[in-house]
Amino acid sequence: MPKRNDLEQKALHYVVGTGYQGVLQSDLWRELGASSREGSRVSIKLEEKGLIRREKELQEGRWTYRLYPKRLPASIETIVDCPCLLCPDNARCDPTTALSPKSCPKLTDWILNLGKSPAPIATAPEDPNVPAEPSMPEDDSVAESLDT
Ligand code: SF4
Repeated sequence: MPKRNDLEQKALHYVVGTGYQGVLQSDLWRELGASSREGSRVSIKLEEKGLIRREKELQEGRWTYRLYPKRLPASIETIVDCPCLLCPDNARCDPTTALSPKSCPKLTDWILNLGKSPAPIATAPEDPNVPAEPSMPEDDSVAESLDT
């Protein structure tokens, strides 16, 4: 049987890998080769540490938990339209000077609009005579990534 800390690490890694879909607690323990008792202890521990969220779910007539990561690694899509990336003042911008991200209206607007209008992802048009339309993500990943 793996040590509890190893199991916590492996469980957390696995849960993070499932992203917004999450994983049934029973499937996770099966995957990690742990007993359900040990698995329950570890998932409660991870929840107490604020690393995962457990939601009750009815599966084949029995209540179980689905485990979701509280935080996901950031993806490049979340910052692709950040004004700092193409800002001509980027090299001079510094929190200790007058030109600072602390008081930048462009950055403030971008932060305040996060989740309202996800950055369009440019795609190549299939027909060269038809202009490409920005594609919208199917999920609300930008807003959810802001959840703490
Ligand atoms: S914080 Fe504002 S001024 Fe600084 S790099 Fe970003 S957009 Fe430019």
